[in-house]
Amino acid sequence: MFSFDDYREILRLAKESGRLATYEEALTRDKWVILRHDVEYSVDRAFALSKVEESMDVRSHFFFQWTNNSYNILSRKNRDILTEMHERGQHVGLHFALNGMTDMALIRERIKKEADMLSDMLGFQVKAFSIHRPSPDVLRENIKIDGLLNAYQDDFFVFDEKAGPDSKLRVKYFSDANHIWRYGYPDADAFAAHERIQILTHPFGWTKKGYDNLDNYKTLVNEKYAELIDSIDNECKDFAPFREQFEKKVM
Ligand SMILES: [Zn+2]
Repeated sequence: MFSFDDYREILRLAKESGRLATYEEALTRDKWVILRHDVEYSVDRAFALSKVEESMDVRSHFFFQWTNNSYNILSRKNRDILTEMHERGQHVGLHFALNGMTDMALIRERIKKEADMLSDMLGFQVKAFSIHRPSPDVLRENIKIDGLLNAYQDDFFVFDEKAGPDSKLRVKYFSDANHIWRYGYPDADAFAAHERIQILTHPFGWTKKGYDNLDNYKTLVNEKYAELIDSIDNECKDFAPFREQFEKKVM
């Protein structure tokens, strides 16, 4: 359920619907399908998934964190990837982590600051953000910031609490968090049943082969392990003689 071929099927349905849109475009349309990716752990996996989209002439939104503990968007390698994704027509945005913040004024200020830094660093305008593990309070706050669209603002997302019997139909939200599609699966029936759809996928969960949850984590850890070996090797001349000893996979 998490192979590139499975994702291609979602893309095929999204294209077929004729409703694929960016957040910006969705504001001016009645019917839309928005594809969003929150990037955790691995920029490489996000890059790989972006290429799957491009192979089908689809572009979407990829949101990256500043404060992630597993990747650094300032690294030369990752900055080059983000730049390339932008040049290929993907929409690079901010995945904002609350990191315990609860003060709404502060949160707004930090989102703006991080988005400005990202725009500054990458040399193009970041126009949207999503919030990492948003608290109910943050969803309730319905944060809107000039020049920045919020993936959770009420144009694109209906908070359960506010959703009356009718409003549920306004936006259908799909999310694959932790390999669980807790709001259903975006299949042909779902595309037929809903006029406005936001689909959130986390690129770290998707691979060419499509693993179950455990094997996905194993392959992810192996990739990060190999990345660390390369990083040390590139940095320290004295690592080369030892490198062979590290080549075996962790699992
Ligand atoms: Zn997240």
